[in-house]
Amino acid sequence: METGIYISLLAPNASLMSGPGTNTLILGRPDEDGALVIDPADSAPAHLDAIMREGERRGGIRRILVTHGHPDHVGGASELRARLGGVPVYAFNRNGVPELDHEAPDGTTWSVGGDTLRAIHTPGHRFDHLSFLLENAHSLRGRSYFRHHHQRHRAARWRHA
Ligand SMILES: [Zn+2]
Repeated sequence: METGIYISLLAPNASLMSGPGTNTLILGRPDEDGALVIDPADSAPAHLDAIMREGERRGGIRRILVTHGHPDHVGGASELRARLGGVPVYAFNRNGVPELDHEAPDGTTWSVGGDTLRAIHTPGHRFDHLSFLLENAHSLRGRSYFRHHHQRHRAARWRHA
């Protein structure tokens, strides 16, 4: 589903935790600041291929962001970084995601697609959880995606209980 500044790809990692699969997001527009990936989620070659194709359409992937260190989100990050020749991985801290290149504390921002993406530390689901907000797009879709995503995670935990 194309929604302008970003596109969502369903990772092939359906499970109790990830429901039908984790949503990998690719953000960016050509000729702006390149593309950015949130939660590669899975190292299946077909999934990484699809991420890279979308990234190319959006000016080339320059950063990989991870919402938190659960395997159904950070999975694929190291493989994608290697395929892209060392594009940096960002996450809240090294305790959560040991393979990161840069820590992204609350308030960290990145320029992408002519907008600003801001990291907001939202512990609860996990101590290192980051939510991401597109500041200028008035993209309630983006925000509602992230809210939906978080609720789905909680629903998964409730089923565990
Ligand atoms: Zn999780």
